[in-house]
Amino acid sequence: MYTFNEIIGYEDIKKHLQNSIEISKISHAYIIDGQKGMGKKLLANTFAKTLQCEKKEITPCDTCTSCLTFDSFNHPDIVYVKPSKKTIGVDDIRDQINRDINIKPYHYPYKIYIINEANTMTEQAQNALLKTIEEPPSYAVIILLSSNSNMFLPTILSRCVLLKLKPISSEKIMNYINQELNIPDYQAQLVTSFSQGIIGKAKELASSTDFFDMRENMISIVNVMLKDDEYELLNLSTKFDEYKDNIEDFLDLFLVWFRDLLIVKKIDDETYLINRDKYKTLLKQARVLSYNKISVIISNIRDAKRLLRQNSNFRLVIEMMILQTKEK
Ligand SMILES: [Zn+2]
Repeated sequence: MYTFNEIIGYEDIKKHLQNSIEISKISHAYIIDGQKGMGKKLLANTFAKTLQCEKKEITPCDTCTSCLTFDSFNHPDIVYVKPSKKTIGVDDIRDQINRDINIKPYHYPYKIYIINEANTMTEQAQNALLKTIEEPPSYAVIILLSSNSNMFLPTILSRCVLLKLKPISSEKIMNYINQELNIPDYQAQLVTSFSQGIIGKAKELASSTDFFDMRENMISIVNVMLKDDEYELLNLSTKFDEYKDNIEDFLDLFLVWFRDLLIVKKIDDETYLINRDKYKTLLKQARVLSYNKISVIISNIRDAKRLLRQNSNFRLVIEMMILQTKEK
């Protein structure tokens, strides 16, 4: 585990890291930035493992003592910085990095620090880290993992190599699902479009039956929505309660569904559908919906997503979204 070849996508970043190993130009500080599920830890770990590998090649050998110790999560010269609270405070940086970094590596060429969720560092913490990044010992490598690089002070950013992870292609995600996960074709298709280029999300969705149950629930909710019965509509909002914790995903399922309805309405070509396996249901629903109504519903769902992100009252937002679908 943890070799560069096994990492899907990010060719430019892998090349950059492997090149720097090859020509021995390792920076003292890196930021790996990307959304949850993109593989930040995987990249950081693979880079760290390669740097410490005794064979000194551009990917870990997986057989030397260093690689084996790494695989048992026990490497003496790789330090994982853990926050003591929800955010990384100045004491965390002082105790876990600044006070430790001048102690030479135990056995290996580098002393590597990996800071998970580094974007949660307080300003004081960042300033404390800055002192170390400005004058690090020659063997030190600090890797900051972040899901929002805007949170870093400009002084931190200017001292780090910033590696931004971008969504990987649907083709690569699809290949991965087909090779690694045993799910039917139509599910692979749905998972691929839903993962939005985030491999971790694809993995999570593909291995969860909940996702497909969730879609069935979404479809039954849409069926009720189309009846335009005010009483039934009002009762619908309780059906969203069980998805309170992953409401974004649930609403995205609706968005994708209504996008498919637009396509059925407009060009009626199955090949463009994401929910291709549900073509008959889509066709039936498209018949009773006007083009205009579909567009209105899509924008209502988008509004609801935005409001929920701003922490508006869950029940109110959902009720409003549902009631607005009623034809005026
Ligand atoms: Zn090795």
